[in-house]
Amino acid sequence: MIVILTGAPGAGKGTQADLLAQREGYKKISTGDALRKQIKEGTEIGNKAKSIMAEGKLVPDDVLLGILQSELEAARGFPILLDGYPRNVAQAKALQDLVGKNGIRGAIHLEVDPGALIQRISGRRTCVNCGASYHATTNPPKREKVCDRCGSEVVQRPDDTEEKVKVRLGVYESETRPVLDFYRNLGLYHRVDGNGTTESVYKALAAQLRSLA
Ligand code: AMP
Repeated sequence: MIVILTGAPGAGKGTQADLLAQREGYKKISTGDALRKQIKEGTEIGNKAKSIMAEGKLVPDDVLLGILQSELEAARGFPILLDGYPRNVAQAKALQDLVGKNGIRGAIHLEVDPGALIQRISGRRTCVNCGASYHATTNPPKREKVCDRCGSEVVQRPDDTEEKVKVRLGVYESETRPVLDFYRNLGLYHRVDGNGTTESVYKALAAQLRSLA
């Protein structure tokens, strides 16, 4: 079973997907994490994606489809949470072709007030090794720039600067928002208010997921 977690950059999809993976046994598939891994390993795909991602734009659909296929294969047999895919209607259709309508249990939109998004994301700090997410003021690591989870360095992602966040939010509005209608038309769309604390949003999301199971 696949559940899609959708929402603007900074809506908290990655944080919530991590919690749901830890507490509810889901496998998280994050196409952003998969691309960052390819960059770190210096693969051909990583080299191609690096500058596009740093600009805040979308990596080509054919590259993403290959990544998605191998991630789905690796997670076979587990309930899956998709974080960061699909990001446009063409990708939504490609996913549909891959797993069929019945392969998707729902698409949950994590909705956060636009004003909060830039504040959240430009304060975000991320572990270079395990991807753990922090916030410079509201949730810093215990030791400055050191990951609580794995001890590696915590940095600001190149696409998390205020300038790049604005590009990403623009891409979200023009390319990704239409995906919501795609799932609405299939009767798979659900909305969860993402404005509260991590724990309160988690509770609402977990309840929504249980109602889909
Ligand atoms: P994320 O970690 O989900 O915020 O993704 C970071 C960046 O990776 C995005 O801004 C895109 O450049 C790229 N990316 C991740 N997922 C996709 C996707 N499904 N389609 C195209 N580009 C993607």
